[in-house]
Amino acid sequence: MTDPTPSDLVDGYGRVHRDLRISVTDRCNYRCTYCMPAEGMPWLPRQELLTYEELARVARVCVERFGFDGIRLTGGEPTVRAHLPVLIEKLAALGVDLSLTTNGSTLRLVAHDLAAAGLQRINVSCDSLRPERFAAITKRDDLPQVLDGIAAAHEAGLGPVKLNVVVMRGVNDDEIVDFATYGREHDVEVRFIEFMPLDAQGAWTDDQVVSQAEIVAAIDAVHPLDEVPAAERGADPAARWRYRDGRGHVGVIASVTQAFCESCDRVRLTAEGMLRHCLFATRELDLRALLREGASDDDLADAIRAEVGAKWAGHQINQVHFIRPARSMSQIGG
Ligand code: SAM
Ligand code: SF4
Repeated sequence: MTDPTPSDLVDGYGRVHRDLRISVTDRCNYRCTYCMPAEGMPWLPRQELLTYEELARVARVCVERFGFDGIRLTGGEPTVRAHLPVLIEKLAALGVDLSLTTNGSTLRLVAHDLAAAGLQRINVSCDSLRPERFAAITKRDDLPQVLDGIAAAHEAGLGPVKLNVVVMRGVNDDEIVDFATYGREHDVEVRFIEFMPLDAQGAWTDDQVVSQAEIVAAIDAVHPLDEVPAAERGADPAARWRYRDGRGHVGVIASVTQAFCESCDRVRLTAEGMLRHCLFATRELDLRALLREGASDDDLADAIRAEVGAKWAGHQINQVHFIRPARSMSQIGG
């Protein structure tokens, strides 16, 4: 029997889940060093990806049964999957806050169509404002296209536009203030992300992590900041600061040094339909098998409830017993 009244999707620690991250593909046109190797990344065969109908069905079950109110599309690079606006239209019909994370390479071409299909907001990733360094990190000489893509996102009404920057010691930590200045001048909220042990090569070491404290101190010395009270943060993974002169905000996603697991409200769906209750989870639920075996909405909801019920208190990156997940960031959906 269908229960039309949504009930909270709660785990054993009392956390209510309302945010779904959907990876639409594991493929990418970039090869960011902190995410995947320059060559040899294996891609999923296309028939293993969930169809747009299957992705939208899982999303609908999360919205109808559990009151989810936010969906973010990611990957891999979501814009490399054909006909993405078709999926966006299906998800927009669910009436949730709909956003997308992209490397921005093709935004000038697609921003308008994404917005017209119902996309509301966008996060663009960019880790250097210096063309040669950008190319060294991504293996593509695309910085002008990405910066123009940010302008295109603004023009298409996909605001507030946010800019994700993974900070790595000795790689781009000398650009923290440059990015902050760029954000202030271009109406973009920059979100610095601590480098996480999710690169496919397994090359992460903790000495490459630039901490939230270091990032904020560097910006504050040039553009004075006031911290936004934690009470205003809700389930946002970013801690935020306000520029004292009123020119916007800056955020830090400090998964390594200031884990925010206690307020986590997210579940993730990989491109091939595995439901993960944590980015770092070492287990996952095979929703594709259920979908393709003819599961009812009740069956899907029961399986999702059980999987989230088994969610752990949090990842333990800084503990000796931390186990890296078998999947890397682009295979999960960051
Ligand atoms: N391709 C899109 C992009 O780059 O925005 C979406 C997928 S990407 C996996 C999502 C986000 O994860 C990006 O902002 C990227 O910088 C970030 N990311 C990837 N690997 C990471 C790592 N090892 N540590 C921290 N952030 C990472
Ligand atoms: Fe591609 Fe995004 Fe990973 Fe870079 S971070 S390789 S753009 S999926």
